[in-house]
Amino acid sequence: MKIYLNGKFVDEKDAKISVFDHGLLYGDGVFEGIRAYDGVVFMLKEHIDRLYDSAKSICLDIPLTKEEMISVVLETLRVNKLRDAYIRLVVTRGVGDLGLDPRKCKEPTIFCIAIPMPPLLGEDGIRAITVSVRRLPVDVLNPAVKSLNYLNSVLAKIQANYAGVDEAFLLDDKGFVVEGTGDNIFIVKNGVLKTPPVYSSILKGITRDVVIKLANEEGIEVVEEPLTLHDIYTADELFITGTAAEIVPVFEVDGRVINNRKVGEITKKLREKFKEIRTKWGIKVNFK
Ligand code: PMP
Repeated sequence: MKIYLNGKFVDEKDAKISVFDHGLLYGDGVFEGIRAYDGVVFMLKEHIDRLYDSAKSICLDIPLTKEEMISVVLETLRVNKLRDAYIRLVVTRGVGDLGLDPRKCKEPTIFCIAIPMPPLLGEDGIRAITVSVRRLPVDVLNPAVKSLNYLNSVLAKIQANYAGVDEAFLLDDKGFVVEGTGDNIFIVKNGVLKTPPVYSSILKGITRDVVIKLANEEGIEVVEEPLTLHDIYTADELFITGTAAEIVPVFEVDGRVINNRKVGEITKKLREKFKEIRTKWGIKVNFK
């Protein structure tokens, strides 16, 4: 496995960064999780745009153009001969000292890892609980910034692990259900697809955007509005979306069974459409 690290491809065993890197010391950095399906990097441009927006928001100047960053991702797949992969692209503030002042970091650290990952979309649904850990308010650390600071999600995941379920749903400071630890939430109620709005405490998921687009194409009404626990418990269908998860049905939340533990009709339709487009909406790797 070859890893891209600061302008070079190095062996996995040599892909090391400093203990003085502020990405490690303070979670001071941004990242993307990206998938490739059959040699096409899914929604790559959108992921790169989000990475640069996250970086801008935290005053991190990425010393590569977006086009160069796209090449980094494509090259990482080409060098490793990977057609179906999960890609982790990370930009940290870089090496500084033990103070948190970012001015001490002269050069961002950039790395890109790709591991084999086959396309998913099985038939199984998952069980989730809502947890006591609240999602970060937008005026504290906006979840729209995909920063390396994921402790909020990690703590929620730990609670789900203790409860013996697959995923944790987080509420915001007002008590609305906003998102999972690494995924966005959708419900279907009376034929309408609903998901929390972008101004709430969520990461604006790229899979979320894709699902909304697919639903629009299918003539399914989409409403972005805050969801209560009641909305979640009484949903006709419920699913989560994310780059790693793709589209996964949720069969149970806090002991309430959704749709008799079956994949709902609208979920099914969207998953079929997703399967069709996941090798098309993206940028092709040139394996030569
Ligand atoms: N919310 C959070 C907190 C996430 O970490 C992710 C995964 N990046 C998502 C939502 C889903 O976003 P995407 O569809 O872009 O992977």
